[in-house]
Amino acid sequence: MCEIQIWINRQEFEYDIYTLVRAFYPQVHTVVHHIGDPQDGEVPGDGQIFVRAWCEEQKVCVGYRRDGQPGIYREAAMDTHRDRKETKSRLKQLLYRVLEEATGQTLVWGNLTGIRPVKLAAAFLEEGMDAAQARARMEEKYYLDRSKSDLCVEIALREKEILQGFDPKEGYSLYVGIPFCPSICMYCSFSSYPLDKWKKRVDAYVDALCKEIRAVGPMVQGRKLHTIYIGGGTPTTLEPGQMDKVLSCLEENLPFSDLREFTAEAGRPDSITREKLEVFRAHKITRLSVNPQTMEQRTLDLIGRRHTVEDVLEAYQIVREMGFDNVNMDLIVGLPGEGIREVGHTLSKIRKLAPDSLTVHSLAIKRAARLRLFSEEHREISFENSCQIMGMAERYARTMGLVPYYLYRQKNMAGDLENVGYAKVGKACLYNILMMEEKQTILSVGAGGSSKFVEKDGKTVTRVENVKDVTHYLDRLDEMIERKKKGMEVWV
Ligand code: SF4
Repeated sequence: MCEIQIWINRQEFEYDIYTLVRAFYPQVHTVVHHIGDPQDGEVPGDGQIFVRAWCEEQKVCVGYRRDGQPGIYREAAMDTHRDRKETKSRLKQLLYRVLEEATGQTLVWGNLTGIRPVKLAAAFLEEGMDAAQARARMEEKYYLDRSKSDLCVEIALREKEILQGFDPKEGYSLYVGIPFCPSICMYCSFSSYPLDKWKKRVDAYVDALCKEIRAVGPMVQGRKLHTIYIGGGTPTTLEPGQMDKVLSCLEENLPFSDLREFTAEAGRPDSITREKLEVFRAHKITRLSVNPQTMEQRTLDLIGRRHTVEDVLEAYQIVREMGFDNVNMDLIVGLPGEGIREVGHTLSKIRKLAPDSLTVHSLAIKRAARLRLFSEEHREISFENSCQIMGMAERYARTMGLVPYYLYRQKNMAGDLENVGYAKVGKACLYNILMMEEKQTILSVGAGGSSKFVEKDGKTVTRVENVKDVTHYLDRLDEMIERKKKGMEVWV
């Protein structure tokens, strides 16, 4: 098979229709047409599939045709101009059923195409449903597999418990971006810059970041700062003096009295030193993330991490020796050449370390140009993820005393699965929940930072982006500050 052609007539549903078709046919070249109709004469050629997802005045309809097979057609009566949300929902339900029939496959995430499925479960619970009813509704409306409806409802309930006695609307969180890394990983889809090439500009970046933090101070006067997350990139690429400058600037310009959590990513073990960790300690950082991604040396070399498994063990030991009692580890499932055996090996090593939380990511292939190129050039190397592997990761996490507390999906994830954060009770990352479930405003400083102004209980979210490119960020800092001020007006 080599091509799918999709015809739609409501452009606003393109993302959902395209994403759902791709979930059934992940490897197939797909073209979307906004006008025209293949039913008028044109027939699919050899290796072609035609999908038509259409809205008429009083009905939604979906057609499927493939060379040499009988076509499938379904329609559902409804006023397609009255309720946009319901129209989209009906169209996706029909499309899912048609593709299920055509392929003989079911998808564990059903017809869900969004990145926040837990938010849907939480909304059902909010409406007064109990856990069983919310699960049943997820399955009936979105065709979720029981394993995923269970997971969503469990996480929604846990998030509710974690947030009890605390009103996110009273405050905000802050994300601080440090966009430099010791080397660029093959799968990277962030804007990150190799430290060796950018070393001379890091001081300028730190100064610009401090200027932006100083500008944010007066904007948030009278509001409570609940969490800070220093991410990137790799924050520990900063030298101790540079990190001290950023952290001191935060303390001097923002109110810390209501701060509940202060996270720093020490993602790359090859960038962690005692001196840097001492700076973190001095500035009361409460949560650290040390990210192996895999404990297979062959894979680490292949993906360009440029550190060893021993580096991970050593960094983790130093972090614990220095008294950090909330340490997360990230790992990625679906890395090149890794299957259930390799992921099992990584998990068994991580279990021995006993981190306080573990975040399991499914590799997002299409978002990283270098990885895509690599996968095209090395077709003999597999990129494998499956419910079986994710299920194994979940079992490992639970035997480590970690329970799922947040979940999100991304575009083009290996196996069309999910990312899940597991944590010991009392060690969940509040920032991750607040950000992912859009519970409160997140201000972002630094290159590539995306501030999200949240209103009406997450129903309205206005994004204000900083430029991603470091040079542009340095040159256009005043413009970034102005943008943020305007965003603040919306939030007020
Ligand atoms: S450490 Fe993270 S941000 Fe840095 S290059 Fe690797 S994936 Fe990208």
